[in-house]
Amino acid sequence: MEEIFGRNGLIARHHPEYEYRPGQVAMAEGVAEALDKRHHLLVEAGTGIGKTLAYLVPAVATGRRVVISTGTKNLQEQLFYKDIPFLQSILPRKFRATYLKGRSNYVCLHRLKRAENTPVLEGLEEMDYFNMVSQWAYGSQTGDRAELAELPENISFWRHIDARSDICIGSKCPSFEQCFITKARQNALESEIIIVNHHLFFADLALRDKEWGQVLPDYCAVIFDEAHQIEDVAMQYFGANVSNFQIDDLLGDISRLVINDVDAAREVTKASLRVARMAENFWLNFTDMDPRSSLTTFNGGGRFVLRKQMFQQKKRDGTEENTVAGERYVNFKTALARLLGALQVVKDAPPEMEAILRRVEQLRFDLDFIVLGDEETFVYWCERRGRGIFLQATPIDASGILNDRLFSQIETVVMTSATLTSAGSFDFIKARLGVSESAELIAESNYDFKTQALLYLPPKMPDPRDTTFAQAAAAEIINILNASRGRAFVLCTSNSQMQALRQLVEYKIDFPVLMQGEGSRSGILDRFRITPNAVLFATASFWQGVDVRGEALSCVIIDKLPFAVPSDPVVAARQRYIDNNGGNSFSDYSVPSAIITLKQGLGRLIRSATDRGVLSILDPRIVTKNYGQSFLRSLPACRISRKIEDVERFFSEEA
Ligand code: SF4
Repeated sequence: MEEIFGRNGLIARHHPEYEYRPGQVAMAEGVAEALDKRHHLLVEAGTGIGKTLAYLVPAVATGRRVVISTGTKNLQEQLFYKDIPFLQSILPRKFRATYLKGRSNYVCLHRLKRAENTPVLEGLEEMDYFNMVSQWAYGSQTGDRAELAELPENISFWRHIDARSDICIGSKCPSFEQCFITKARQNALESEIIIVNHHLFFADLALRDKEWGQVLPDYCAVIFDEAHQIEDVAMQYFGANVSNFQIDDLLGDISRLVINDVDAAREVTKASLRVARMAENFWLNFTDMDPRSSLTTFNGGGRFVLRKQMFQQKKRDGTEENTVAGERYVNFKTALARLLGALQVVKDAPPEMEAILRRVEQLRFDLDFIVLGDEETFVYWCERRGRGIFLQATPIDASGILNDRLFSQIETVVMTSATLTSAGSFDFIKARLGVSESAELIAESNYDFKTQALLYLPPKMPDPRDTTFAQAAAAEIINILNASRGRAFVLCTSNSQMQALRQLVEYKIDFPVLMQGEGSRSGILDRFRITPNAVLFATASFWQGVDVRGEALSCVIIDKLPFAVPSDPVVAARQRYIDNNGGNSFSDYSVPSAIITLKQGLGRLIRSATDRGVLSILDPRIVTKNYGQSFLRSLPACRISRKIEDVERFFSEEA
């Protein structure tokens, strides 16, 4: 690896921004060894070490097929359009790489042909867009809608013509040979490096034994970048979900089936209408719930299932009867069974029927699993978003599933991120992901945090639960912003706190204020970059994956230690599960996961060797509580001050 990454190596001779980074060499050697000796590896890669080349070079050197999975589109594009072409131009070993996206990014030629003859448009204004898609699709090499920059992101007909796995009829499809998914799979088969995102990777992993869903060919290793996100993504693909949108889509697809037998078609239509009516009644059970509500509650040591109470009640004689909600559920299930029966007897059914039958069966199974299931390792919950109602059964603990499906199946899994450890240990991430045996490496950042950064912990802040906290926090924020001349992110742990702090601060400072939600994420970031001295108030989604280099971002202020919200159904279930199994959810889960989030927030500040900045944490628990030491030990070694004068001096030095 020295020959490639060393001071006189291949990269030094060809890369205009080359600098020798010992952390990069150490990481590249660690990844090469993991691939060679076929074991797993966890690497915390400090910011600025050049981790993408540190794993790409050994991955290419194996000559075998390696999947690289990342959390964000930005990183996939950096890998595919920048790092890989660079390596292809300098490495002696020739290799091919493919960039695969989720199936819904590609057009399904079979559905497109059908849609040309059956109505899928919601208004005349969509006609021009539909014609544009039609003309493009038959000439495209990839079928990836990203080629159509003018197509609005939320155009409604796209979901009727995309290549999602649940509608795909696989090798029975008349367009199978020309299919873009078939071609993408073929490209992947001919490539040594395949770039995907975590969603595609886990969707594929969950369907690997099924002929119709799998996209990735066999691979010998997977490298997860932004690996701190794996658990949350993986869980979405190993549980069950049912939503009102899913039912609407299914009924829409059934209405477009070409059924020649008039009597059978009439029966299917009748049964579909009944499902639509019964589904509408069923969703009424959930419309008054909070946006994220658990459907299961626990009582002391015993399991008390709210869902059961919701759907059934005890009569005086001790027997049980259905509640109103229970009646609605039974009616919905009966309507689905009738629909299934009506579909099954259709003679000379079109090829889509197979996928439709599969979806109805899966829906019935998932519905039963969510409403009647009683697995202790799952949390059953409901989410309401806009017009959507989503019922979910999510595994509480990913470790067993990931161990069975990933770590014991793939020879080498490399997991890397700038934030994998808490207090210098990988134990938390290993326990969450079920990694039993793996090598570990911390590749230190080559930034000099002692001179580049200052951690300011204001004195005399009240406890965050105290009613005076917001006022005191606002006063500190104003002082800090005056010293930094704006150029700051104020990262809050809740929406309400973000709005409250903005109101308290905005009219007492002379800097332009932006707030999350006032436009798309990328739009807000662009405005922040080009607005001199801007201050951005934001919450969770800006804690990670945001890259603002240089002076525009010189200060990150964090209101509270970012503990996960304990009332969230998934968080609450994870905590209860740990406590019930002899652990301590606070020290085993809440503290380390908050440390990783805090490190992500800090990571926004120093993005290059010339960046300078102040991080301020307004939550006094970082110094008053014992666990505060774990947070402090986890941050890069930088100067710590409790005096605002030091902040003022830090910024006056740069003037
Ligand atoms: S094989 Fe599947 S995704 Fe491809 S065109 Fe046919 S139905 Fe669509």
